[in-house]
Amino acid sequence: MKKNSQERKKALVTGCNGQDGSYLMEFLLDKGYEVYGMVRRLSCPNYQNIKHLLGSVNLIYGDMTDITSIVKIVKDGQFDEIYNLAAQSSPAESFKQPFLTTDVNALGSHRLFEAVSIYSPQTRVYQASTSEMFGNAFESPQRETTQFNPSNPYAVSKMYAHQMAHIYRNKGLFVACGILFNHESERRGLQFVTQKICYGVACISLGMKESPALNEENEPLVKDGKISLGNLDAKRDWGYSPDYVRGMWMLLQLNMPDDFVIATGEQHSIRELVQTAFKFVGIEDWEKYIYVDPRFVRKDTCSLLGDPTKIKSIGWKTDVDFKKLVEKMVENNINQLK
Ligand code: NAP
Repeated sequence: MKKNSQERKKALVTGCNGQDGSYLMEFLLDKGYEVYGMVRRLSCPNYQNIKHLLGSVNLIYGDMTDITSIVKIVKDGQFDEIYNLAAQSSPAESFKQPFLTTDVNALGSHRLFEAVSIYSPQTRVYQASTSEMFGNAFESPQRETTQFNPSNPYAVSKMYAHQMAHIYRNKGLFVACGILFNHESERRGLQFVTQKICYGVACISLGMKESPALNEENEPLVKDGKISLGNLDAKRDWGYSPDYVRGMWMLLQLNMPDDFVIATGEQHSIRELVQTAFKFVGIEDWEKYIYVDPRFVRKDTCSLLGDPTKIKSIGWKTDVDFKKLVEKMVENNINQLK
């Protein structure tokens, strides 16, 4: 039920122009919230994911590495809810930029919790934790009680924020943590393997031997008609971002803050993802379009699978399955490239 303007809840989304932030802002607008999004000042603004929302949301400049901007936003805003999604969100990149990753993800979240606890302690906070904290997991599937074993700087930075969220929760702040397993969408960044594959398959289906977009090594993502990938046997639990942002909101509507795994409970390999994507465009002999490049083989996390029993017990469910997700991503890339 939407509220009238006097009763409208106010929400702030950090990382609002990222994949999840953009879907979450759409979701909150639809629920009748007054929505604020924090963006960092870039010389060339990156509003691709939120350009359709620009008249409907309020954007505020701020940076997770800058305590002054965070304090001002929290103090002035007096939000009902803050969704802390801002992050250097790539595990692979975190090996190349470990200190930036720690500053943004660990200390940035800590700055936010501290600012809320001093200037707006009634605000409910959602913290974007990650399945990467399980790393080389001690048990499968992973659940809220599974011991963490992080294996990259990103995972460690997120674990710091997760543990710090518990400290502030124990001090009385409402901080809920969603331990989210991989979730993708048409808006996923090109540095992530799912989007790399779906984009590459779209290029190949259109007869392109070389893609306009580059990979992290500044080479065409599709080169000589092939996509370069890492370990095809790595397995993940992949869901659809709009389903997951609904889960984030649900956590802040509970009576008590808590931790919840958000996952599909199904595991698929990169190989299956590649096969599904090629099959969608009518290509069965997909192997000849793939080059396994040792530079892209991740030696850290190999197999993650979430147990969504707890989040399902409060009514959460997925609407988009693995096959549909891959097809949506490939189709969107084909339309964009055309
Ligand atoms: P994303 O697309 O990479 O978005 C990250 C957002 O953070 C972007 O809006 C980015 O802004 C912003 N950001 C980066 N550094 C910042 C800084 N110093 N100050 C302020 N904003 C900053 O990530 P996502 O997939 O939407 O994920 C959302 C959150 O969930 C992240 O915290 C991620 O770590 C976590 N998570 C994601 C997954 C997943 O599978 N997607 C799984 C578990 C947890 P710019 O556009 O300016 O770079």
